[in-house]
Amino acid sequence: MGKAILFSAPSGCGKTTIIRELMASTPAGRFDPRNLSFSISATSRRPRGEEVDGQDYYFLSQEEFRRRVEAGDFLEWEEVYSGTCYGTLKSEVERIWNEGKAIVFDVDVNGGRNLKRHFGDRALSIFVMPPSLEVLEQRLRSRGTDSEEAIAKRLGRSAEELQQAPHFDVTVVNDDLQCAVEETLRVVEAFLNE
Ligand code: ADP
Ligand code: 5GP
Repeated sequence: MGKAILFSAPSGCGKTTIIRELMASTPAGRFDPRNLSFSISATSRRPRGEEVDGQDYYFLSQEEFRRRVEAGDFLEWEEVYSGTCYGTLKSEVERIWNEGKAIVFDVDVNGGRNLKRHFGDRALSIFVMPPSLEVLEQRLRSRGTDSEEAIAKRLGRSAEELQQAPHFDVTVVNDDLQCAVEETLRVVEAFLNE
């Protein structure tokens, strides 16, 4: 077994942005981002914006997603929004650990807590906190990828999800992006070198 870094937060808090910066960071000290690999989740939602199948997600139909749940292919899965499921495939974890790399996850708050329980000390769980709910709403709108209905669904879950931050190993406040990325690099480096 290798290591895992879990990023969780309500939608729009900046997980994708911070993970992208982490993976693209230049090797510094004893930390090399080439030793990290992103866990590509499966989802039953449609691709949005520039998303690519097999790169951002494995996009499955509802039927295929259900079939793979029944086949026991998932380490964890959640119906994050009503009618839309997301899950971590066991094969992803095996693929990445077989390459000798640490796994980076972008999962919802329940998924993050479940994976932390599963991996224990092998995982670092990071909660990405927005400066406020108002800023979170602005960011969801300015991302420009979700319908009003999807934004309302996402915001509807946010307040409750934010209360779960104390269950995570670390909270990174994503106000100024550069500061949030630096803090993330610091905690990830410390964890990988433990
Ligand atoms: P998540 O992956 O958590 O759903 P995203 O990374 O997609 O969130 O970020 C949501 C939106 O907020 C994106 O448009 C992103 O560019 C923007 N964003 C992320 N972090 C910041 C920040 N620190 N300041 C301003 N905008 C940000
Ligand atoms: P989005 O539709 O914005 O890409 O993702 C919606 C939510 O689903 C985000 O909170 C994201 O972290 C979560 N998510 C993505 N993949 C998984 C997964 O494999 N498992 C769980 N539990 N949540 C996931």
